[in-house]
Amino acid sequence: MYLTKRFSFEAAHNLMNYKGKCANLHGHSYVLEVTVLGEPTQNGMIIDFYDVKKIVEENVILKLDHKYLNDIIEQSSAERISLWIWNALHNELPALYEIKLFETEDSWVTFRGPNAP
Ligand SMILES: [Zn+2]
Repeated sequence: MYLTKRFSFEAAHNLMNYKGKCANLHGHSYVLEVTVLGEPTQNGMIIDFYDVKKIVEENVILKLDHKYLNDIIEQSSAERISLWIWNALHNELPALYEIKLFETEDSWVTFRGPNAP
């Protein structure tokens, strides 16, 4: 089974060596979906939604929300941010299967890292 929890955060960035709107300083309301893969254990759960919330808030949301992403992630495209988020989570959340990062409602990146179960 797959279990997913959705988060959101606001952050600013500008892309370097890029000709387009994202070259200028601006912000996005990012939406992040974190999916884990597993079988329900005796308590009927793969993992408690609350535990996913706690891990993602501590390791991702607190670090990126209302931040200037260029200070944290080089060339902070949705792809690079996804990779950063994966690296920030996979040790804390061994059942991590996939993340989706929405830069806008209709534009997103799906990432499954090499350590995906
Ligand atoms: Zn942008």
